[in-house]
Amino acid sequence: MSSTLQPSSGGLDVPRVLLLPSAGMGHLIPFVRLAAALTARRIDVTVLAACSTVSAAESRLLSSLPSDLLLDFPIAPLDASLFPPSSDPFFLRMEGLRRSAHLLQPFLSASFSSPISALIVDISAASSFIPAAAAANIPCFVLFTSSAAMLALCSASPFLSLSSSEIDIAGVLKIPNYCLPPPLHDPNHLFTTQFVENGRALGLASGILVNTFPSLEPEVLFALNSGKVVAGLPPVFAVGPLPPARKMPTSLSPAIQWLDKQQERSVMYVSFGSRTMMSSAQMRELGAGLEMSGCKFLWVVKSTKVDRDEKGDIDEFVGKGYVRRVEGRGLVVKEWVEQEVVLSHRAVAGFLSHCGWNSVTEAAAAGVRVLAWPRMGDQRVNAEVVARNGLGLWPSEWVWEAEEGLVVGEEISKKVREVIEDKRLVETVVTVAAEAAAAIADDGSAQKSFALFEDKIMM
Ligand code: UDP
Ligand code: UDP
Repeated sequence: MSSTLQPSSGGLDVPRVLLLPSAGMGHLIPFVRLAAALTARRIDVTVLAACSTVSAAESRLLSSLPSDLLLDFPIAPLDASLFPPSSDPFFLRMEGLRRSAHLLQPFLSASFSSPISALIVDISAASSFIPAAAAANIPCFVLFTSSAAMLALCSASPFLSLSSSEIDIAGVLKIPNYCLPPPLHDPNHLFTTQFVENGRALGLASGILVNTFPSLEPEVLFALNSGKVVAGLPPVFAVGPLPPARKMPTSLSPAIQWLDKQQERSVMYVSFGSRTMMSSAQMRELGAGLEMSGCKFLWVVKSTKVDRDEKGDIDEFVGKGYVRRVEGRGLVVKEWVEQEVVLSHRAVAGFLSHCGWNSVTEAAAAGVRVLAWPRMGDQRVNAEVVARNGLGLWPSEWVWEAEEGLVVGEEISKKVREVIEDKRLVETVVTVAAEAAAAIADDGSAQKSFALFEDKIMM
């Protein structure tokens, strides 16, 4: 099911909701999907987003939105000299947004004359925007763009010892220390400060929307809503899996044209999301593994965090002659693909994925088996959700992006074959996909959650 993004007509008894996404496609995409879902419920939505974006993909997505849906939100200049030169540009932009909350009230006064029902802010900007919204007398909700498991970790983080060998959250979730987002191992890291401050601020929000569904993370959602994770946490609304909001492309990309020629459920799709790079040495092992597996594959290569920095041709990364050698068996591309279209293509059987949360929910909705290879951040926590639900396999010894060592080709090839051949996984993903479809059906959990959210903003 997909919803279309058209601004609702507005009017006196139509609630007006402002959405404030943070940097990166992994944050912007769920906000755009949320905008579509709210618009479909006749809520008047405006997206506040900085139009000078970090990546070209964000720019393209923003420029595809109807112009009256979008307002260019100002970001206060960030003194880059305060951060290590190697800092992730997406992370710096998130921090820039978090430090721009004082601009909210003047911006709203200049932009809106009628009352605002609610602001929904990205988790990474929660600690500064929740108080700023309160000062402007606007109820503030948070969209949590990762799993409910990560939400439990984030909201409980002010009360946890993150150095324990296993982080036990209310007895319902146990996260081994090696699965934590790596910066959390350093209590002085800015990510840790942000994470804990945002987690603490959640208690002051009017509600938390999370892009998951009850059958995927039942215990954690129940524990969050029954005060077991943190007493006094506001209601958590499971509104996922947020369905795609974008129009289907009118022209077929080379990736889709290639998939059209492949047999039913025969292809492994390989992609590590919008901002996860891979070293050339690891790419060569991955290339060798895919070739050795004998499976058909569609591989999206990414050598830099920010797409605007990508230079050089594919051969430079995967080895001269590779692309030609695998022709017919595998297609290697270096540009953005419409992942939701790829995952719902009849030829796709499996997804070698970094387990960014959007990718996980998209695979769940499409009924595609996942071979989980988390590379950074929240991805090991998400990979555990994948493995627990039988949505795929997770070889948990495979290294992080920044760790020394490589996952070798033979190992990759073995796991790719296992995922493609495992008949039990096929059964479980079909069940998960049916549950995902039921969650977003008219009487499903997502619509019920939206109805509760609406009740709250109309009070
Ligand atoms: N995506 C896409 N095409 C690409 C790469 C990514 O459509 O070539 C989309 C993907 O479908 C997902 C989002 O970008 O919706 C990436 O979010 P995710 O949480 O999976 O990972 P992140 O990029 O934040 O690490
Ligand atoms: N996150 C969080 N609290 C924060 C910042 C992030 O819980 O203060 C979550 C958020 O949902 C994010 C995840 O941690 O998806 C990992 O963050 P990271 O910056 O590594 O990845 P990103 O989301 O930026 O792709």
